[in-house]
Amino acid sequence: MRTDEDLNSENESNSSDNNFTDFGYTKVSEHEKEEKVAEVFDSVADNYDLMNDLMSFGLHRIWKRQAVGICNIREGDRVLDLAGGTGDITKLIHKKIGKAGEITLSDINPNMLEVGKNKLLDLGIIKNINYVVANAEKLPFKDNTFNKVIIGFGLRNVTKKDKALSEIYRVLKPGGKIIVLEFSKPNSKLSAAYDFYSFKVIPKIGKLIANDEDSYKYLAESIRMHPNQEKLLSMIENEGFALCKYKNLLSGIVAIHTGIKP
Ligand code: SAM
Repeated sequence: MRTDEDLNSENESNSSDNNFTDFGYTKVSEHEKEEKVAEVFDSVADNYDLMNDLMSFGLHRIWKRQAVGICNIREGDRVLDLAGGTGDITKLIHKKIGKAGEITLSDINPNMLEVGKNKLLDLGIIKNINYVVANAEKLPFKDNTFNKVIIGFGLRNVTKKDKALSEIYRVLKPGGKIIVLEFSKPNSKLSAAYDFYSFKVIPKIGKLIANDEDSYKYLAESIRMHPNQEKLLSMIENEGFALCKYKNLLSGIVAIHTGIKP
């Protein structure tokens, strides 16, 4: 297993290494990464919600609720749930936007979005929602459109994270808020148990439930390759966001980063 030093130095360079990037621990071309991430989410879409509950013992629901709480949604807000997948975050936000508000649930993967749309329709959540297939690196929205943009467990999978952050900045209104909910770097006391669970247990659950061990191996590796709390904070600040900060959940296994577009 790679050391923290290995991972941190690779993280520093992984965004522009001759157009090569990381897919978990494997170096691939940027184009290949997009294809492989699409394969992962095509493969897991139908079992995604069940696997989330099993792998996290339901904790992902609490993390998402906390992120939405930090969003501080107001009635009438226009909100973008980016890389929103099967719509858990949209479901939580929908209760808060009132009749005049609007949510756009967007994801690069039509299959994930389809599962999300069906789930929300089954729950009777119909009004004031748009569904948009889009790459976070090139958003099909005008400048200054949204009051809040939230990306939950999505940024890790995006090839050019800086581009996605800059697009989020562009589509936010002045005074608008970015919220990034993502796996992060846990307190070192947890590392051994967390590594064992991530690399030995989760892929086996993936094999048993979704007949897909590799996608869940990617999950564990992609978390290790994702920028840690401080690095992500500086990436968000570098885009021009103000009042940037983060809050660790479960000793840093997950973190919520926020910033305001001045
Ligand atoms: N936000 C949802 C949640 O918290 O349950 C889904 C998270 S899921 C782990 C990650 C999502 O990111 C997938 O649905 C995937 O298709 C999407 N994704 C990956 N790369 C993307 C990109 N470049 N642009 C937009 N979405 C992307």
